[in-house]
Amino acid sequence: MKAEALFWQQCTQAVNEDGSIDAEHLMELVIATYRSHESGYDEIERSAEMLLTENRELRDTISSTAQALAEQHKLFEIVLNNLPLGLSVFDADQRLTLSNLRFRQLFGFSDGDVAPGTRIADLMHKTHGTEQTSARTRSRKEGQDASSKTRRIRRREWLMDDGRIIQSVVTILADGSNIAIHADITEDRKAAERITYLAHHDPLTGLPNRIRFREQLDAALAERRQDEQIALVHLNLDRFKSINNTLGVSAGDKILQQVAERIRASAGSENILARLGSDEFAILQTHRQQPWNITALADQIRRELSEPFFRGDKQVELSVSMGISIAPDDAAESDKLLRNAAVALSHAKADGRRHQRFFTDEMDEKMQARHALEADLRAAVQNEEFELHYQPLYDLAQHRICGFEALIRWNHPVRGRVPPMEFIPLAEEVGLVVDIGRWVLHRACNDAARWPEDVKIAVNVSAIQFSSSDLLQDVNKALAAAELSPSRLELEITESVLMENRDEALPILHALKERGIRISMDDFGTGYSSLSYLSSFPFDKIKIDKSFVNDIVDHKEAHAIMRAIILLGDALGMRVTVEGVETAEQMALLEREACDEIQGYHISPPKPFGDAAHMLSMPAKKNGTTPFAKRRH
Ligand code: C2E
Ligand code: CA
Ligand code: CA
Repeated sequence: MKAEALFWQQCTQAVNEDGSIDAEHLMELVIATYRSHESGYDEIERSAEMLLTENRELRDTISSTAQALAEQHKLFEIVLNNLPLGLSVFDADQRLTLSNLRFRQLFGFSDGDVAPGTRIADLMHKTHGTEQTSARTRSRKEGQDASSKTRRIRRREWLMDDGRIIQSVVTILADGSNIAIHADITEDRKAAERITYLAHHDPLTGLPNRIRFREQLDAALAERRQDEQIALVHLNLDRFKSINNTLGVSAGDKILQQVAERIRASAGSENILARLGSDEFAILQTHRQQPWNITALADQIRRELSEPFFRGDKQVELSVSMGISIAPDDAAESDKLLRNAAVALSHAKADGRRHQRFFTDEMDEKMQARHALEADLRAAVQNEEFELHYQPLYDLAQHRICGFEALIRWNHPVRGRVPPMEFIPLAEEVGLVVDIGRWVLHRACNDAARWPEDVKIAVNVSAIQFSSSDLLQDVNKALAAAELSPSRLELEITESVLMENRDEALPILHALKERGIRISMDDFGTGYSSLSYLSSFPFDKIKIDKSFVNDIVDHKEAHAIMRAIILLGDALGMRVTVEGVETAEQMALLEREACDEIQGYHISPPKPFGDAAHMLSMPAKKNGTTPFAKRRH
């Protein structure tokens, strides 16, 4: 059959029942005929021409369909080559059928490399990288019924020579062909690694953080051989808060970095280090004989950290306390080992800091006792189990009681009377001293308001009250509530107030002084550098610690020191009170040395409020004897 006739015959198939023409069908027929009869192409074209000239409507349809198809194809090309992902399609023979521009870019292929029909193996040879992992192949059932075909998804990862990481997700179809999308995951991977790093490291020092340390400790304990010991050191810088307070937080941070560096240098790479918190670090030592090795390391770190640090022209001295626990002797699990090291650390601190202590079972018992005391103390604040006793301050020139010092007593329902030295340090540590101190101020001011105008009230104030509460406001409230004149109130502070937060405390002290409240330096002579603290604030009074009084009668040297301190107070324009005067001889000597005031059992021990009022009403005797001295308890 001639091509033309065949064509016409075929064309009739494209005529629908209603006489209209199915353009798409016709196009297919034109193409098919064209392909199978290439020789007769001119005739077909001519016939088609004829047909088309006769049928204008058909021509328009055909041309617009052809145009739409061309546009669709163009659009497909555009989409394909602008995809942010690489795309490749391989047929069942593993030959490339389709790929896009991003695919070529990702793997560094040239246009020639990706000619359709290229074998997958040949293409892989040209890749500038190596396959890292050929991860899980996941099969997925297509459709619900068991007979349906399966397709598998496989993830592959490539490390390119330039460092990029490319991930391919390959879908292998049932006929063996595959469609894959490829993406550069370098940035995502880096971000993920960064997040993992940040979650496990301290950004300031670059050391592992508490979470990471915990993981390392768990791993070390799990891998521990039966005869192996593991030492855990918990380090804490002594009084680091005062460095932050005086030099500022950013200088504090710089010093912490230097501290970390020194610890790192001492510990070397064979020990595991971490920063557990602000000024807390930890070291884990495995595969060593203990306690010798860890003692040597702790000694070395202490020496390194005792060398001064420099911030600009400022020199900073630091010391460190350490608690050490050893597995399996002290504990075999992480939690307990960490806890025991912390317990040992708190004992090192209590021993006056700068120490290292190994955990012992007695420490644990003490710790339990301490926790119990703390719980009781919290309850005591709620239940107001406290009472104030008053100890007279005796004016040696006027021979009269010129004031009382309020001293707290805790009447515990079971423990009995707990002395302040047993609970005030704990209350300071756990912050309860703020509430207790507020209660003391109110009670003392109220009681003092019932005494004659010329009798003062002295109240002890902790360093914590300066840093953790609005002391000025608390004092003002107490004075207002009691309608007590500020000039009748004396606040006794110790050097620690100026040592720990001088910058915070000085303005508060000045404000208190401006209100007319008097400020005393308590326990003078027991700290380190009393003279520098004395000159940093115009104290109204110095209270010389009772340890200086004991020997003044029998020892010339003690007498000379006492005389010198009294003269020093005079020179600075501060009143001098000597504490702990227990005998008439001591009182007589101090009177001769022109000491202003004394306090001690010789005058009277601290007594309840009712007794204080009674003491005031009794006449005083001169020459070192007083009627109150017998009333001790
Ligand atoms: P402190 O402020 O130095 O108080 C003087 C301490 O010496 C009192 O001990 C007192 O009873 C004792 N004492 C008085 N005369 C003599 C004496 O002649 N010989 C001897 N050996 N001791 C004498 P207390 O009452 O046990 O208080 C101890 C410390 O507890 C006080 O020392 C003070 O630091 C603290 N404290 C007491 N009450 C408070 C308070 O309300 N707030 C705060 N923050 N601390 C308080
Ligand atoms: Ca005192
Ligand atoms: Ca004192």
